[in-house]
Amino acid sequence: MPNYLTLTFEHFMPTQITLRILPKNFNDSYIKTAIAKQIDLSKIDFFEYSILKKSTDARQLPIKYQLSILVHTNESISSYVKNDKKYAKVDKKKKVHIIGAGPAGLFAALKVIEKGCKPIVYERGRNVKDRRRDLAQLTKKHIVNPESNYCFGEGGAGTYSDGKLYTRSKKRGSVTEILNTFVAFGADENILYEAHPHIGTNKLPSIISAITNKIIECGGEVLFNSKLKDIYIKENKIEALLLNNERVEVDNVILATGHSARDVYEMFYAKGLALDYKQFAVGVRIEHPQTLIDKIQYRCESRGEFLEPAAYQLVAQVEGGKFKKKRGVYSFCMCPGGIIAPCATNQEEVVTNGWSPSKRNNKYANSGIVVSIEDDDLRKFSKFGPLAGMKFQASLERKAWEMAGKTQVAPAQRMIDFIENRKSETLPENSYMAGVKSVNLNEVFPESIAHYLRNGLLAFGKKKKGYLTNEAILVGVETRSSAPVRIPRDKETLEHIEVAGLYPCAEGAGYAGGIVSAAIDGMRCAEKIVEKMAIT
Ligand SMILES: Cc1cc2nc3c(=O)[nH]c(=O)nc-3n(C[C@H](O)[C@H](O)[C@H](O)COP(=O)(O)OP(=O)(O)OC[C@H]3O[C@@H](n4cnc5c(N)ncnc54)[C@H](O)[C@@H]3O)c2cc1C
Repeated sequence: MPNYLTLTFEHFMPTQITLRILPKNFNDSYIKTAIAKQIDLSKIDFFEYSILKKSTDARQLPIKYQLSILVHTNESISSYVKNDKKYAKVDKKKKVHIIGAGPAGLFAALKVIEKGCKPIVYERGRNVKDRRRDLAQLTKKHIVNPESNYCFGEGGAGTYSDGKLYTRSKKRGSVTEILNTFVAFGADENILYEAHPHIGTNKLPSIISAITNKIIECGGEVLFNSKLKDIYIKENKIEALLLNNERVEVDNVILATGHSARDVYEMFYAKGLALDYKQFAVGVRIEHPQTLIDKIQYRCESRGEFLEPAAYQLVAQVEGGKFKKKRGVYSFCMCPGGIIAPCATNQEEVVTNGWSPSKRNNKYANSGIVVSIEDDDLRKFSKFGPLAGMKFQASLERKAWEMAGKTQVAPAQRMIDFIENRKSETLPENSYMAGVKSVNLNEVFPESIAHYLRNGLLAFGKKKKGYLTNEAILVGVETRSSAPVRIPRDKETLEHIEVAGLYPCAEGAGYAGGIVSAAIDGMRCAEKIVEKMAIT
């Protein structure tokens, strides 16, 4: 939206004001008129404005947008540069090796360039374009390429993700830096002010390619089909990497391989390197008609043409009954107007997640509904030590695959049928393109997990009238909400506690969850390495 207005004045200080407007009035001319009513026009030559924050206030009807606006008087907004990063040529500079081209790896590479060093990124998967073909194969022919799928390839799990960019990270400066960088590489500027910024799956691939191209243009390297198979350690320091079948000597390595790189965890375990179990959650993806969620959230028959498709966030503490302990059940990665995606990384498993296009204009609203995992759930897997959670995750994914017919067809059930523990006779239309098969999902999960999920859904039904309905479908299994393993690192240096020069990074190492926090952690690791290299 253009955001300028020329009047004639002499005053200078930017002033912050708040506007509450109807969604239909969210346009430049209305906003300028509303601002003009709030400031003393007699004292200025002209003003321009920028939106600092936009949120939807649906607590009372009519629903309004709340805008926090910075009004610049007698000063052009173009002087407020949003992204002033300079990426110079680094081809002849000191090298930093990065494993994984997800948000963490790519933002680490940009930071390495900014700091005057040369990043070399190794990625097991394929580039964005080739990867799209692998996703089509997965959906239509049920062939899972274990190196190129929704989780692996250029941009990592972030590329074909939903692209919601909100985070619980308290590092506001770093969050702003990430958002500005996304805008510099092609994201819409509205992510800078939306309370819940969202890019959308259709727009992410070109943004990711633009980042990769910039890294290469500056003399960095991004090597696809390059898989880390082993690491060599000498005297407690990283010495070399085995990439495909080639040994590469290294000094400093950022390991940003994401939470689905189970072979990396296995490799660490086999070498006897320190690993910790990390708490995580599992459950199902739930999908309702979007019109129903709009009705519930906006308390109206139809949301009309101006309001965005409604989202929700739900959490309940559920009594354990015979399982004694209370546990948290919560919604996760909610995608209004979205699609349920097949996110397996191996042939013999079924895994769900969700995404939506930038317009969020699909007919359905999906969300992960997950319950936190406790030690009791992992007894059968305790012989795997720190990998117990990962093995448990894998066992659920395999069971889902077996019960739904050993393809990428996913096991599914209507919501009330799941709560009443009976297989659905029919399934509603839904967005999961690889197909669904009616099974009793209670049988996919251990009894305790099914208990908490059923009661969590019942609690959500009490909180949101209309949410509990047999029109909603549950599709299993949602198991990769976060890493089930932590690769421990020194709090100060960020190096692995036993291996100098090795930097376990972001989601796969258990230090991030989501695009923004992974990118922040990538940048942090890059900064630590460059600082260290400057000293030594
Ligand atoms: C469908 C979907 C929707 C999502 N929606 C959102 C959302 O809306 N908002 C949000 O914040 N998050 C979302 N996420 C999660 C988000 O994508 C991840 O949190 C984020 O990508 C983690 O970043 P990362 O860089 O730590 O790891 P990843 O993105 O997992 O990247 C790791 C990379 O390492 C590579 N790799 C792994 N092993 C090796 C190896 N041995 N050698 C070389 N390379 C290797 C992988 O191929 C991968 O490219 C979604 C994920 C999915 C799948």
